[in-house]
Amino acid sequence: EQVENKTKGKLQKQICQVVLDHFEKQYTAELGDKWTSVRDVLTCPSCWQYAILLNKFSQSAELENTLRVKGYHLAFRGTLPYLPRSLKCYISRTPRRFPAQKHQTGKLKEYYLLNAASVLPVLALEVKDGEDVLDLCAAPGGKSVTILQCAYPGQFHCNEYDDLRSRWLKQTMESFIPDPLVNLITVSKQDGRQIGDFKPESYDKVLVDAPCSNDRSWLFSSDTQQAKLRLIQRKELSSLQFQLLRSAIKALRPGGSLVYSTCTLSKAENGDVINLILKSCANVMPVDISEMAKAVSQEFTFLCDTQQHELLVLPEKGKAWGPLYVAKLKKI
Ligand code: SAM
Repeated sequence: EQVENKTKGKLQKQICQVVLDHFEKQYTAELGDKWTSVRDVLTCPSCWQYAILLNKFSQSAELENTLRVKGYHLAFRGTLPYLPRSLKCYISRTPRRFPAQKHQTGKLKEYYLLNAASVLPVLALEVKDGEDVLDLCAAPGGKSVTILQCAYPGQFHCNEYDDLRSRWLKQTMESFIPDPLVNLITVSKQDGRQIGDFKPESYDKVLVDAPCSNDRSWLFSSDTQQAKLRLIQRKELSSLQFQLLRSAIKALRPGGSLVYSTCTLSKAENGDVINLILKSCANVMPVDISEMAKAVSQEFTFLCDTQQHELLVLPEKGKAWGPLYVAKLKKI
């Protein structure tokens, strides 16, 4: 049973046992010993880390000074093209919280708090200035904002199916992106599975940050009944993910590429979906992202036995980022 527990005057999150039992079984089978250390991080909120993505449209030297004084350093620095200089993401090795910024009308936000691993799908996408980009499942907009820190797309289309979340996405874009740039972004509310038919061969890059099992947050479900239902419905996610990918492939121009990402460790929603796509779509091929993984390997722990077109970030103490799966495909 879920009961919020009071310790040292603070409300503490409680682990949802049914979810933990389910993960224990599945991930021990899939990850072996590695699951134990991943589980230790995921079940320990005081070990969690947060990255601070600066907004280049609202720069603040004072904020950067504060971050350095507090022990944060810049991640994703390097000379590879995957690591754009305009992207400034601060992280700290020790878990600490930085306050989230409130929405203020007429003022752009200076930073976005996120899991540092969420930057990886955007880096893998390698958006260049002028390219037409579709973010298929975009709310609340963390990756859309990150894309705009890296490059100025030609056409930028952010889509989110859910009504409420689509409004949230719009608000994120308005809080981070200035006029007139924000007016050039299209925010739509379509079923991502159909965008390929509506907009065939229209984009150079597509990000499919798919709806998935959210391992980290599911472990702290406060409603056991809802958690049980989620675990049952979990099996249907792979088919939704497959359909979103098929739509993304249709929406790509030949020569264009897509990045698929999830925040689950589950093989059924990660490698299995990508393998099925590679098997059933003759017009896509895998793209090697191992160089990118190497370039950021200081900050992340990756599962070793993945193929070159994919990576899986495993949370570890001091590098508590992920879970995050990324795969890259190219349309022929
Ligand atoms: N990319 C977002 C970010 O970085 O802030 C997070 C996206 S979240 C993992 C997946 C999103 O897909 C959810 O907001 C969910 O409502 C949306 N979604 C679910 N089914 C969808 C569909 N059929 N078409 C488009 N979006 C969908």
